[in-house]
Amino acid sequence: AAARLEGKTILITGASSGIGRSCALEFARAAPRDLRLILTARREERLQELKEEIRKEVGEGVKVLVRALDVADKDAVRGFVGGLEEGFKGVDVLVNNAGLVKGVARAPGIAEEDIDVMFQTNVTGLINMTQAVLPIFKARPDGGAGDIINIGSIAGREPYAGGSIYCATKAAVRAFTDALRKELIDTRIRVMEVDPGQVETLGVLMRLGFVVQEFSVVRFYGDKSKADAVYDGCDPLTPDDIAEVVVFVASRRQNVVVADTLIFPSHQA
Ligand code: NDP
Repeated sequence: AAARLEGKTILITGASSGIGRSCALEFARAAPRDLRLILTARREERLQELKEEIRKEVGEGVKVLVRALDVADKDAVRGFVGGLEEGFKGVDVLVNNAGLVKGVARAPGIAEEDIDVMFQTNVTGLINMTQAVLPIFKARPDGGAGDIINIGSIAGREPYAGGSIYCATKAAVRAFTDALRKELIDTRIRVMEVDPGQVETLGVLMRLGFVVQEFSVVRFYGDKSKADAVYDGCDPLTPDDIAEVVVFVASRRQNVVVADTLIFPSHQA
């Protein structure tokens, strides 16, 4: 099945760490002879490191383009996707992965800025990328072809106290994904969603362009008592667990739409 990915161009957002980074590596491993990867995130130096890592692991068959891109910046997104260089123009798969949790708190206490950042990244950013890539897909014969894989979250299905805004953003991703799939019913464009449960990833808290604190998204910013209350006895998934599913979803026969996948660790009921 992985052979179906050969010759394809895959665009991943949020590829500088966590699940997005693992997706890049997993796609490269699946089609090492002939693949093009467009890796985006705000931290370009991490993308450069990943590019080198991919080259070392699979060799020169995978061509990698890296670019600093803030998905929330609509003009930058349009400009970048519209002006993709030769060899990378024909995006086949868009993995909308960029997303974050900011300022875990109950709704009345959440800073306005955190609400805006979560919606602008998780929802508007995902829509920006989708709208920029769709014309490439639509230009193909028979109404168009291509894959959109949105990374949602179990939080979009099962909202929890203390995550009201994040949960709302992921519920919005879910609604957008389902509606878009229906809007594109007459095309060969597949719109799919992968919803992870707890995954052990490192997020980075940025302020004014500087990394001020590395924290584990699933560990409540290092607050052990809060984390233990939720995660005690739980063994989170790894980013690779999610990446394997993303590659699986992207490598089905054209007629197979793995529309909606929920994946969580066995302890997470
Ligand atoms: P990470 O923090 O490790 O990765 C998030 C990625 O998103 C980073 O590469 C970051 O890169 C990028 N990003 C953040 N904001 C922007 C932006 N404005 N523009 C472009 N890129 C951006 O976390 P995860 O790997 O865990 O998260 C990936 C996705 O998985 C998210 O959508 C998250 O909601 C979802 N998810 C995660 C779960 C978990 O338990 N970890 C569970 C369920 C869903 P940079 O800072 O360089 O821009």
